[in-house]
Amino acid sequence: MKAAVFYGKGDVRLEEREKPKAGPNQLVVKMDCVGLCGTDVEAFKTGEFLRRGMTLGHENIGMVVEIGEGVEGYQIGDHLICGPPTFCEAMCPSCQRGETNLCKFALPETRGIQGPDGGYAEYMHIHDVKHTTLKKIPGSIDLKDAVLYDVVCVGIHAMRISRLRFGDNVAVSGGGGPVGLSLVRLLKAAGVRKLAVLQRGDHKTEILKKYGADIIIDPEKEEDISGKLIEFFGTGELADVVFECAGTKASLKNCLEYAARPGGQVMVVGQVDEPLDNIIPTASFVKELDIHFSFVFTAKDVEVYLDMLGSGKIDFPGMVTCEIPLADVVEKGLGLEREARRKQIKILIDPS
Ligand SMILES: [Zn+2]
Ligand SMILES: [Zn+2]
Repeated sequence: MKAAVFYGKGDVRLEEREKPKAGPNQLVVKMDCVGLCGTDVEAFKTGEFLRRGMTLGHENIGMVVEIGEGVEGYQIGDHLICGPPTFCEAMCPSCQRGETNLCKFALPETRGIQGPDGGYAEYMHIHDVKHTTLKKIPGSIDLKDAVLYDVVCVGIHAMRISRLRFGDNVAVSGGGGPVGLSLVRLLKAAGVRKLAVLQRGDHKTEILKKYGADIIIDPEKEEDISGKLIEFFGTGELADVVFECAGTKASLKNCLEYAARPGGQVMVVGQVDEPLDNIIPTASFVKELDIHFSFVFTAKDVEVYLDMLGSGKIDFPGMVTCEIPLADVVEKGLGLEREARRKQIKILIDPS
Protein backbone atom coordinates (compact mmCIF):
# COMPACT_ATOMS: atom_id res chain seq x y z
CA MET A 1 0.00 0.00 0.00
CA LYS A 2 1.02 3.64 -0.44
CA ALA A 3 1.95 5.74 2.61
CA ALA A 4 3.32 9.27 3.08
CA VAL A 5 6.24 9.00 5.48
CA PHE A 6 7.90 11.84 7.41
CA TYR A 7 11.73 12.03 7.27
CA GLY A 8 12.37 15.59 8.44
CA LYS A 9 12.43 19.13 7.16
CA GLY A 10 10.90 19.31 3.68
CA ASP A 11 11.14 15.55 3.39
CA VAL A 12 7.93 13.54 3.16
CA ARG A 13 8.10 10.55 0.81
CA LEU A 14 5.36 8.50 -0.76
CA GLU A 15 6.49 4.95 -0.12
CA GLU A 16 5.29 1.43 -0.66
CA ARG A 17 4.61 -0.11 2.76
CA GLU A 18 3.25 -3.45 3.80
CA LYS A 19 -0.48 -3.55 4.52
CA PRO A 20 -0.99 -4.01 8.28
CA LYS A 21 -2.55 -7.14 9.79
CA ALA A 22 -4.84 -7.31 12.81
CA GLY A 23 -3.54 -9.35 15.74
CA PRO A 24 -5.23 -9.72 19.14
CA ASN A 25 -6.59 -6.38 20.47
CA GLN A 26 -6.04 -4.86 17.01
CA LEU A 27 -7.97 -3.63 14.00
CA VAL A 28 -7.11 -2.62 10.46
CA VAL A 29 -9.05 0.24 8.92
CA LYS A 30 -9.16 1.41 5.33
CA MET A 31 -8.78 5.17 5.39
CA ASP A 32 -11.87 7.17 4.41
CA CYS A 33 -10.29 10.56 4.89
CA VAL A 34 -7.58 12.31 6.86
CA GLY A 35 -7.25 15.93 7.91
CA LEU A 36 -4.08 17.75 7.01
CA CYS A 37 -3.15 19.45 10.26
CA GLY A 38 -1.17 22.60 11.01
CA THR A 39 1.13 20.40 13.09
CA ASP A 40 1.99 18.34 9.99
CA VAL A 41 2.71 21.52 8.05
CA GLU A 42 4.89 22.88 10.89
CA ALA A 43 6.82 19.60 11.01
CA PHE A 44 7.33 19.67 7.24
CA LYS A 45 8.65 23.24 7.53
CA THR A 46 10.92 22.73 10.54
CA GLY A 47 11.66 19.00 10.75
CA GLU A 48 10.48 19.04 14.38
CA PHE A 49 7.57 17.74 16.52
CA LEU A 50 6.95 14.45 14.73
CA ARG A 51 8.70 11.09 14.75
CA ARG A 52 10.88 10.44 11.74
CA GLY A 53 10.20 7.32 9.73
CA MET A 54 6.52 7.47 10.70
CA THR A 55 3.52 7.70 8.39
CA LEU A 56 1.88 11.09 9.02
CA GLY A 57 -1.76 11.69 9.90
CA HIS A 58 -3.52 12.06 13.26
CA GLU A 59 -6.98 13.27 12.13
CA ASN A 60 -8.22 9.92 10.97
CA ILE A 61 -11.47 8.36 9.79
CA GLY A 62 -11.32 4.77 8.59
CA MET A 63 -13.54 1.81 7.82
CA VAL A 64 -12.96 -1.46 9.66
CA VAL A 65 -11.68 -4.11 7.22
CA GLU A 66 -10.01 -6.56 9.60
CA ILE A 67 -10.80 -7.48 13.19
CA GLY A 68 -8.21 -9.13 15.42
CA GLU A 69 -8.83 -12.09 17.70
CA GLY A 70 -10.88 -11.31 20.78
CA VAL A 71 -11.81 -7.77 19.67
CA GLU A 72 -15.48 -7.17 20.38
CA GLY A 73 -17.91 -4.39 19.57
CA TYR A 74 -16.74 -3.68 16.02
CA GLN A 75 -17.97 -4.95 12.66
CA ILE A 76 -16.47 -4.96 9.20
CA GLY A 77 -17.70 -1.83 7.48
CA ASP A 78 -17.96 0.33 10.63
CA HIS A 79 -16.63 3.83 10.06
CA LEU A 80 -14.55 5.00 13.01
CA ILE A 81 -13.02 8.14 14.37
CA CYS A 82 -9.53 6.89 15.24
CA GLY A 83 -8.44 9.39 17.85
CA PRO A 84 -5.66 9.74 20.41
CA PRO A 85 -4.74 7.25 23.16
CA THR A 86 -7.15 7.00 26.07
CA PHE A 87 -6.80 5.55 29.58
CA CYS A 88 -3.23 4.21 29.67
CA GLU A 89 -2.47 0.65 30.71
CA ALA A 90 -0.95 1.88 33.98
CA MET A 91 -4.04 3.98 34.80
CA CYS A 92 -1.81 6.90 35.83
CA PRO A 93 -3.20 9.57 38.19
CA SER A 94 -4.29 11.80 35.26
CA CYS A 95 -6.21 8.91 33.68
CA GLN A 96 -7.76 8.06 37.03
CA ARG A 97 -9.10 11.61 37.14
CA GLY A 98 -10.49 11.16 33.61
CA GLU A 99 -8.00 13.74 32.30
CA THR A 100 -6.68 11.38 29.63
CA ASN A 101 -5.43 14.34 27.57
CA LEU A 102 -2.93 15.01 30.35
CA CYS A 103 -1.69 11.41 30.59
CA LYS A 104 2.11 11.40 30.48
CA PHE A 105 2.10 8.28 28.31
CA ALA A 106 -0.40 9.63 25.78
CA LEU A 107 1.74 11.98 23.70
CA PRO A 108 4.56 9.50 22.92
CA GLU A 109 1.84 6.99 22.01
CA THR A 110 -0.17 9.29 19.76
CA ARG A 111 -0.55 7.93 16.27
CA GLY A 112 0.90 10.21 13.59
CA ILE A 113 2.63 12.41 16.22
CA GLN A 114 5.26 10.45 18.15
CA GLY A 115 3.62 7.03 18.23
CA PRO A 116 2.59 4.46 15.61
CA ASP A 117 1.97 5.15 11.91
CA GLY A 118 -0.86 7.54 11.09
CA GLY A 119 -3.47 7.74 8.39
CA TYR A 120 -1.68 9.25 5.38
CA ALA A 121 -1.93 5.77 3.87
CA GLU A 122 -4.41 3.39 2.29
CA TYR A 123 -4.72 1.34 5.47
CA MET A 124 -3.98 2.03 9.12
CA HIS A 125 -3.15 -0.29 11.97
CA ILE A 126 -5.00 0.19 15.27
CA HIS A 127 -2.31 -1.46 17.37
CA ASP A 128 -4.10 -1.23 20.72
CA VAL A 129 -7.89 -1.13 20.52
CA LYS A 130 -8.33 -1.12 24.29
CA HIS A 131 -6.36 2.08 24.82
CA THR A 132 -7.37 4.06 21.73
CA THR A 133 -10.19 6.58 21.32
CA LEU A 134 -12.35 4.80 18.75
CA LYS A 135 -15.86 6.12 18.09
CA LYS A 136 -18.35 4.68 15.63
CA ILE A 137 -19.80 7.25 13.27
CA PRO A 138 -23.55 6.80 12.78
CA GLY A 139 -24.65 6.49 9.15
CA SER A 140 -26.55 9.78 9.38
CA ILE A 141 -23.33 11.75 9.88
CA ASP A 142 -21.24 12.90 6.93
CA LEU A 143 -17.68 11.58 7.28
CA LYS A 144 -16.39 14.97 6.18
CA ASP A 145 -18.03 16.56 9.21
CA ALA A 146 -16.80 13.79 11.49
CA VAL A 147 -13.18 14.18 10.38
CA LEU A 148 -13.20 17.72 11.78
CA TYR A 149 -13.25 16.16 15.26
CA ASP A 150 -9.57 16.93 15.80
CA VAL A 151 -10.10 20.69 15.55
CA VAL A 152 -13.69 20.99 16.78
CA CYS A 153 -13.02 18.92 19.90
CA VAL A 154 -10.14 21.22 20.83
CA GLY A 155 -12.75 23.99 20.92
CA ILE A 156 -15.29 21.87 22.76
CA HIS A 157 -12.73 20.94 25.39
CA ALA A 158 -11.62 24.54 25.92
CA MET A 159 -15.23 25.64 26.36
CA ARG A 160 -16.04 22.82 28.77
CA ILE A 161 -13.14 23.60 31.09
CA SER A 162 -13.61 27.39 30.84
CA ARG A 163 -15.70 29.62 33.11
CA LEU A 164 -17.98 30.54 30.24
CA ARG A 165 -21.56 31.24 31.25
CA PHE A 166 -24.69 31.78 29.23
CA GLY A 167 -24.90 35.43 28.21
CA ASP A 168 -21.20 36.24 28.58
CA ASN A 169 -19.46 38.65 26.26
CA VAL A 170 -16.72 36.71 24.53
CA ALA A 171 -13.72 37.38 22.30
CA VAL A 172 -11.80 34.91 20.14
CA SER A 173 -8.31 35.87 19.02
CA GLY A 174 -7.02 34.10 15.91
CA GLY A 175 -10.57 33.26 15.00
CA GLY A 176 -9.83 32.49 11.36
CA GLY A 177 -7.94 29.24 11.81
CA PRO A 178 -9.70 25.87 12.00
CA VAL A 179 -9.79 25.83 15.83
CA GLY A 180 -10.78 29.50 16.04
CA LEU A 181 -13.58 29.02 13.53
CA SER A 182 -14.80 25.96 15.40
CA LEU A 183 -14.93 27.99 18.58
CA VAL A 184 -16.80 30.84 16.94
CA ARG A 185 -19.43 28.41 15.68
CA LEU A 186 -19.65 26.54 19.00
CA LEU A 187 -19.83 29.75 21.04
CA LYS A 188 -22.63 31.04 18.85
CA ALA A 189 -24.48 27.74 19.37
CA ALA A 190 -23.86 28.00 23.13
CA GLY A 191 -25.54 31.38 23.38
CA VAL A 192 -23.04 34.10 24.10
CA ARG A 193 -24.22 37.67 24.41
CA LYS A 194 -21.86 39.30 21.94
CA LEU A 195 -19.03 37.61 20.11
CA ALA A 196 -15.97 39.56 18.96
CA VAL A 197 -13.20 38.09 16.82
CA LEU A 198 -9.68 39.37 16.43
CA GLN A 199 -8.29 38.24 13.10
CA ARG A 200 -5.53 39.56 10.86
CA GLY A 201 -6.37 40.22 7.21
CA ASP A 202 -9.71 39.70 5.53
CA HIS A 203 -9.30 36.17 4.11
CA LYS A 204 -11.72 34.71 6.65
CA THR A 205 -14.23 37.55 7.04
CA GLU A 206 -17.03 35.87 5.11
CA ILE A 207 -16.95 32.55 6.93
CA LEU A 208 -16.45 34.24 10.33
CA LYS A 209 -19.62 36.26 9.77
CA LYS A 210 -21.48 33.16 8.62
CA TYR A 211 -20.32 31.27 11.74
CA GLY A 212 -21.54 33.96 14.11
CA ALA A 213 -18.88 36.63 14.66
CA ASP A 214 -20.71 39.85 15.53
CA ILE A 215 -17.65 42.01 14.93
CA ILE A 216 -14.27 41.27 13.36
CA ILE A 217 -11.34 43.43 14.40
CA ASP A 218 -8.00 43.37 12.60
CA PRO A 219 -5.55 43.73 15.50
CA GLU A 220 -2.81 44.97 13.18
CA LYS A 221 -4.95 47.78 11.81
CA GLU A 222 -6.97 48.77 14.88
CA GLU A 223 -5.05 51.16 17.09
CA ASP A 224 -7.36 50.96 20.08
CA ILE A 225 -8.51 47.35 20.44
CA SER A 226 -9.81 47.89 23.98
CA GLY A 227 -11.77 50.99 23.05
CA LYS A 228 -13.33 49.23 20.08
CA LEU A 229 -14.30 46.20 22.18
CA ILE A 230 -15.77 48.25 25.02
CA GLU A 231 -17.83 50.25 22.56
CA PHE A 232 -19.00 47.07 20.87
CA PHE A 233 -19.94 45.15 24.03
CA GLY A 234 -21.79 48.18 25.31
CA THR A 235 -21.43 47.21 28.97
CA GLY A 236 -18.52 49.53 29.72
CA GLU A 237 -16.30 46.46 30.03
CA LEU A 238 -14.12 44.09 28.03
CA ALA A 239 -14.84 40.39 27.42
CA ASP A 240 -15.77 38.03 30.26
CA VAL A 241 -13.93 35.18 28.55
CA VAL A 242 -11.31 35.38 25.80
CA PHE A 243 -10.10 32.40 23.76
CA GLU A 244 -6.56 32.65 22.36
CA CYS A 245 -6.30 30.47 19.24
CA ALA A 246 -3.54 32.00 17.11
CA GLY A 247 -0.69 30.60 19.17
CA THR A 248 1.42 33.75 18.87
CA LYS A 249 2.89 36.07 21.46
CA ALA A 250 1.19 39.09 19.83
CA SER A 251 -2.21 37.40 20.05
CA LEU A 252 -1.70 36.35 23.67
CA LYS A 253 -0.70 39.90 24.55
CA ASN A 254 -3.85 41.24 22.90
CA CYS A 255 -5.95 38.80 24.89
CA LEU A 256 -4.37 39.62 28.24
CA GLU A 257 -3.97 43.35 27.86
CA TYR A 258 -6.71 44.53 25.54
CA ALA A 259 -9.53 41.96 25.40
CA ALA A 260 -10.16 40.50 28.88
CA ARG A 261 -12.06 42.44 31.54
CA PRO A 262 -10.80 42.72 35.12
CA GLY A 263 -11.54 39.42 36.83
CA GLY A 264 -12.10 37.80 33.44
CA GLN A 265 -10.63 34.66 31.98
CA VAL A 266 -8.19 34.03 29.14
CA MET A 267 -8.30 30.49 27.76
CA VAL A 268 -4.98 29.74 26.06
CA VAL A 269 -5.87 27.28 23.32
CA GLY A 270 -3.14 28.01 20.75
CA GLN A 271 0.32 26.72 21.53
CA VAL A 272 2.64 29.71 21.79
CA ASP A 273 6.17 28.59 20.93
CA GLU A 274 7.84 32.02 21.01
CA PRO A 275 9.69 33.08 24.18
CA LEU A 276 7.20 34.77 26.50
CA ASP A 277 9.53 37.02 28.49
CA ASN A 278 7.63 40.04 29.81
CA ILE A 279 4.40 38.70 28.37
CA ILE A 280 2.57 38.62 31.70
CA PRO A 281 2.33 42.36 32.23
CA THR A 282 1.41 44.07 35.43
CA ALA A 283 -1.89 44.78 33.71
CA SER A 284 -2.79 41.05 33.94
CA PHE A 285 -1.82 40.98 37.58
CA VAL A 286 -3.83 43.98 38.64
CA LYS A 287 -6.76 42.75 36.58
CA GLU A 288 -6.60 39.49 38.57
CA LEU A 289 -6.89 37.58 35.32
CA ASP A 290 -7.61 33.90 35.29
CA ILE A 291 -5.20 32.49 32.69
CA HIS A 292 -6.16 28.92 31.88
CA PHE A 293 -4.42 26.59 29.41
CA SER A 294 -6.38 24.05 27.39
CA PHE A 295 -4.65 21.08 25.77
CA VAL A 296 -6.21 18.90 23.05
CA PHE A 297 -9.33 16.92 24.12
CA THR A 298 -10.62 13.71 25.63
CA ALA A 299 -12.83 10.88 24.35
CA LYS A 300 -15.76 12.58 26.13
CA ASP A 301 -15.36 15.66 23.94
CA VAL A 302 -15.52 13.44 20.84
CA GLU A 303 -18.78 11.93 22.12
CA VAL A 304 -20.18 15.42 22.64
CA TYR A 305 -19.23 16.35 19.07
CA LEU A 306 -20.77 13.24 17.51
CA ASP A 307 -24.01 13.75 19.45
CA MET A 308 -24.21 17.40 18.42
CA LEU A 309 -23.56 16.50 14.78
CA GLY A 310 -26.04 13.63 14.88
CA SER A 311 -28.83 15.77 16.27
CA GLY A 312 -28.18 18.62 13.85
CA LYS A 313 -27.21 21.11 16.60
CA ILE A 314 -23.95 22.00 14.92
CA ASP A 315 -22.33 21.84 11.51
CA PHE A 316 -19.34 23.42 9.84
CA PRO A 317 -20.21 24.26 6.22
CA GLY A 318 -17.29 25.62 4.25
CA MET A 319 -14.64 24.44 6.70
CA VAL A 320 -13.25 21.84 4.30
CA THR A 321 -11.87 23.95 1.48
CA CYS A 322 -10.02 21.33 -0.51
CA GLU A 323 -9.64 17.57 -0.98
CA ILE A 324 -6.50 16.09 -2.46
CA PRO A 325 -5.35 12.57 -3.31
CA LEU A 326 -2.51 11.08 -1.25
CA ALA A 327 -0.11 11.43 -4.18
CA ASP A 328 -0.45 15.25 -4.01
CA VAL A 329 0.13 15.55 -0.26
CA VAL A 330 3.39 17.50 -0.58
CA GLU A 331 2.64 19.61 -3.64
CA LYS A 332 -0.94 20.60 -2.79
CA GLY A 333 -0.85 20.17 0.98
CA LEU A 334 2.25 20.26 3.18
CA GLY A 335 4.32 22.36 0.80
CA LEU A 336 1.73 25.02 -0.09
CA GLU A 337 3.08 28.55 -0.25
CA ARG A 338 2.01 30.94 2.49
CA GLU A 339 -0.44 32.92 0.36
CA ALA A 340 -2.11 29.79 -1.04
CA ARG A 341 -2.33 28.36 2.49
CA ARG A 342 -4.07 31.43 3.92
CA LYS A 343 -6.97 30.85 1.55
CA GLN A 344 -7.43 27.30 2.84
CA ILE A 345 -9.10 26.28 6.08
CA LYS A 346 -9.11 22.48 6.27
CA ILE A 347 -7.49 20.38 3.57
CA LEU A 348 -8.59 16.73 3.50
CA ILE A 349 -6.59 13.89 2.08
CA ASP A 350 -8.34 11.04 0.34
CA PRO A 351 -5.92 8.13 0.59
CA SER A 352 -8.04 5.60 -1.33
ZN1 LIG B 1 -4.44 18.00 14.16
ZN1 LIG C 1 -2.51 7.68 31.86
